[in-house]
Amino acid sequence: MAQSAPLLLRVVASSVNASARAGKIIRDIMSQGDLSIVEKGKNDLQTEADRSAQRCILASLSRQFPNVTIIGEEDSSNCEVPSDWVVAESDPDVLGIKLPPHLENLEDKDLCIWVDPLDGTSEYTQGLVEHVTVLIGVAVREKAIGGVIHQPYYKNPDNGELGRTMWGIDGVGTGGLKLIAPPEGKRVITTTRSHFDSTVKSAMDAMGADEVLRVGGAGHKVLLLLEGKAHAYVFASAGCKRWDTCGPEAILHAFGGTLTDVHGERYSYNAETGHPNKGGVLATAPGQPHSWYLARIPDEIKQKLV
Ligand code: AMP
Ligand code: MG
Ligand code: MG
Repeated sequence: MAQSAPLLLRVVASSVNASARAGKIIRDIMSQGDLSIVEKGKNDLQTEADRSAQRCILASLSRQFPNVTIIGEEDSSNCEVPSDWVVAESDPDVLGIKLPPHLENLEDKDLCIWVDPLDGTSEYTQGLVEHVTVLIGVAVREKAIGGVIHQPYYKNPDNGELGRTMWGIDGVGTGGLKLIAPPEGKRVITTTRSHFDSTVKSAMDAMGADEVLRVGGAGHKVLLLLEGKAHAYVFASAGCKRWDTCGPEAILHAFGGTLTDVHGERYSYNAETGHPNKGGVLATAPGQPHSWYLARIPDEIKQKLV
């Protein structure tokens, strides 16, 4: 069954399981108490959980898809992993989907997988673990098409177990999350908690928000849009990278929302593309008027983000 499913489905289905395994590694490292924090750059941290989660995901996906390009956030010179970090299982619901003809017969070279093994590292180091997500995006040529978001510290209300995994394939289907519309009659906007600067603030000021939610992580903020907690995610900064947005963009579009730069352009995610999201991030919940938010961003900010 698994081998006969189309390549795109096999990659997304394997990413669902690999992201959940990475989430368990993230919880285990936190409970062991030694994060071994490294400063990669200004306001840019890496922990043992970022490194280990990436090794788990890369080892798992590259064994199954050795000829698909995988780009991870962290440097991964060390590919040795414990055998129980290598995931071979994949999600049966995803494997059972019927794809439209243009996605059915893709080849390895048509895909590029973008991995953010731990999104929201600053918050993770501060114990704000509910902001943390694992992000895997699957680009088909230039476009973000498949997305997986795993939230390792989500507490399942039915059984108290930790962790949930959501996926979406744009134009095809979604799983793991029930879409909730944000409230009418008010405007709630989410933005960065730990990468705030004067430009980010000016764009937020121009939005006329009734409420601002400053939280960590690109994945977490896109989930707020899907769970009816915010109407838009505005980040007028070049600080995000392709691995922050590929998975979230694909899932958001699969649910009917929109993620672009501040000019209204979708990012490209082919393997050759640059990593920084130089045009910032504007994402809107399904049913929200994306162009209205775009028009509110001041021109002088748009000119800075090119
Ligand atoms: P935030 O909304 O601040 O949590 O950022 C979302 C993602 O973009 C996280 O993975 C951040 O690490 C990354 N990011 C945003 N701004 C910067 C920056 N100035 N430097 C490094 N990473 C950034
Ligand atoms: Mg990130
Ligand atoms: Mg990260």
